[in-house]
Amino acid sequence: MILPPATLGMLGGGQLGRFFVTAAHEMGYQVWVLDPDKNSPAGLIAERHFCDAYDDFAALDEFANGCAAITTEFENVPAETLDYLAKFVPVRPSAAAVAICQNRIAEKSFLRDNGLPHGPFAAIHGEDDIKKADPSLFPAILKVARFGYDGKGQATVNNCAEALLAFARFNGEACVLEQRLTLDYEVSVVLARDQHGQVQCFPTGENQHTNGILDVSIVPARTTGCVKSDAEDVAARIAEELGYIGTMGVEFFVSRGRLIVNEMAPRPHNSGHYTVDACVTSQFEQQVRALCGLPLGEARAHSPAVMVNLLGDLWFDGERYREPDWARLHAVPNLKLHLYGKHHARPGRKMGHFTVIGEDAATVQQAALAARTAIGIKDA
Ligand code: ADP
Ligand code: MG
Repeated sequence: MILPPATLGMLGGGQLGRFFVTAAHEMGYQVWVLDPDKNSPAGLIAERHFCDAYDDFAALDEFANGCAAITTEFENVPAETLDYLAKFVPVRPSAAAVAICQNRIAEKSFLRDNGLPHGPFAAIHGEDDIKKADPSLFPAILKVARFGYDGKGQATVNNCAEALLAFARFNGEACVLEQRLTLDYEVSVVLARDQHGQVQCFPTGENQHTNGILDVSIVPARTTGCVKSDAEDVAARIAEELGYIGTMGVEFFVSRGRLIVNEMAPRPHNSGHYTVDACVTSQFEQQVRALCGLPLGEARAHSPAVMVNLLGDLWFDGERYREPDWARLHAVPNLKLHLYGKHHARPGRKMGHFTVIGEDAATVQQAALAARTAIGIKDA
């Protein structure tokens, strides 16, 4: 077991990393963050911020030298970086697990090869793959295999000709072509798995997206117990097959009553932010625990919760840039506001979130949606 006051390494300095730093600090650890952005939210509060590229090997040497173990908050850290660091210190999750989750072709192939539920897709490496794709995939979504997030690097395509155009717009980068599914709703499972294979699933959340970005998470998901337990079973199997150590998120579609894996995130997940305020152990404490070889904490929610994302759009009143009226949120006594300390708001950028908790799920939902409107979030 790695115990305080050891120093833990975090690759990536976004809000997920910042919550990790806070959890680790609470538990008595120190944290070094590596992120090329000098204003990275996690770097600002870490003991040390390495403002270096993920493939700067001299920086990686110094980083590994001072850390007892290393994890990541950003799925696009090159797998080679993780492999390199693993020569010196424990790196969790492993490069192999992250490599599968960071490439949509590898991810979908992994699901298929392990008999896990996934939607119809084709791997696209060149125009020919589009031309010979099964016509039943259309209408479809073309997604770049790497580096997409929050709906970026995706195009809705109704036929082969549109897919070819979109592929050209993506500069011929490797893609997946996915059948566009009719969604009843979306759910996600955030879980932690330790080095002995013990798994703790947080309660399944129901996710509402706006313009491809998570907007609201409702926990518990308003669905039958069967969907919830199936989702937990599938998520746990994925973690097992990946030999995963750490916290991970699995996104699901429920399409015509069927549960289908959408994608996996090899890190804490936006839909798991509610765990900070509503669970015995947060997803970030679980990440610290798994990284350090501590037993996992209890994942039970002590309260229903609704989490609402706060995007940069809120900072814009027409042309005018101004701080949102936070007093309106602080007026709600069972609302927890979290702001990530990002220097500039941009439309679509995740700047913060709030979580409403309470005794009764329906009342919590009403209060959260009222607060969402009060702060100025419009329905799409
Ligand atoms: P990201 O990495 O940006 O989160 P996702 O693949 O999860 O990308 O897509 C974002 C959202 O777009 C999903 O949560 C869902 O609402 C919608 N979406 C993605 N793929 C499909 C699909 N095949 N059919 C229907 N909706 C989809
Ligand atoms: Mg997603």
